[in-house]
Amino acid sequence: MNLKSTSCIGFALAFGMLSCSVGQKKEAPGNEARRWAIALHGGAGTISRSQMTPARDSGYRTSLDLALKTGEDILSRGGSALDAVEQTIAVLEDNPLFNAGRGAVFNREGKVQLDAAIMEGEKGMAGAVAAVEGIRNPIRLARIVMERSPHVFLCGAGAREFGIEQGLDTASASWFYTRERWEQLQRQRATGKSGSLENHAESLGTVGCVALDQQGLLAAGTSTGGMTNKREGRIGDSPVIGAGTWADNRTCAVSCTGHGEYFLRLAMAHELHSRILHGNQGLEKAAGALILEELSKAGAQGGLIAVDGKGRIVMPFNSEGMFRAFSNGKSRKIVIYRE
Ligand code: ASP
Repeated sequence: MNLKSTSCIGFALAFGMLSCSVGQKKEAPGNEARRWAIALHGGAGTISRSQMTPARDSGYRTSLDLALKTGEDILSRGGSALDAVEQTIAVLEDNPLFNAGRGAVFNREGKVQLDAAIMEGEKGMAGAVAAVEGIRNPIRLARIVMERSPHVFLCGAGAREFGIEQGLDTASASWFYTRERWEQLQRQRATGKSGSLENHAESLGTVGCVALDQQGLLAAGTSTGGMTNKREGRIGDSPVIGAGTWADNRTCAVSCTGHGEYFLRLAMAHELHSRILHGNQGLEKAAGALILEELSKAGAQGGLIAVDGKGRIVMPFNSEGMFRAFSNGKSRKIVIYRE
């Protein structure tokens, strides 16, 4: 990595942003190194060093590293952005530290209802599921909705039925259960607050991934349990195409995390695409304005990760921290706090 892009990362990280370009070195014609890039998040929110024990900090870093390696292996071997996004997210869904798949938050009725979406940037194909129960990896279900059904968005029992019909792994309530999430629900029930800012703070851990593959294609995906103590049937931004997830090869692939109701109202992921395509703004400027200005003005917390066709990555957030990682084969980094 050259000096220019190193200092750009240093600057960007200090502001909760990250932007870097890869493949800038000129290669002989016909001999260009094919570029690829991947970024992932594990949720944005109140993550301060003082609240983290060293063991917890290193548990998150190891988990982010493992997920990142999954995507790096696929992309460096010439695999597709869609495969990288699906497999990376599936690893995070199986990890009880994150609010997706195993370890997801409980709703008001004490159930785990999961939301996920995936989108590819060439044809704009997309698949999404919401409030689905008992499917081990909702991101895989979102992908088969995209590839094997005439639909884009399935919810509840119908989504689950489709997954079973297509041979996806199911999982019992005990697979999804963690004591920490159950205790969070009891605390939230005691306060009687649902859908508040405090409520979101306890729901940390949504996961997302964006990727550029060596064929120049972009893909994005997001998976979450939503918010602790949410009403039965509540759906956040994550599975809503254009709110929490979006990909278009002309602009970028985006995955959001934060208080979903605000991301839905801002149509956040599509708004980023629009500002680049129609507003002639650069990725970094547009993403920064949306998160640091628009979302902050609305009084909400969160962030996003995005990658464009040149492999530039941005990761703005306005909260205390965001679990995040990126790689382009030449540089890789795992970051938690504002640094
Ligand atoms: N956006 C998710 C939701 O509202 C939660 C999060 O990303 O923290 O469902």
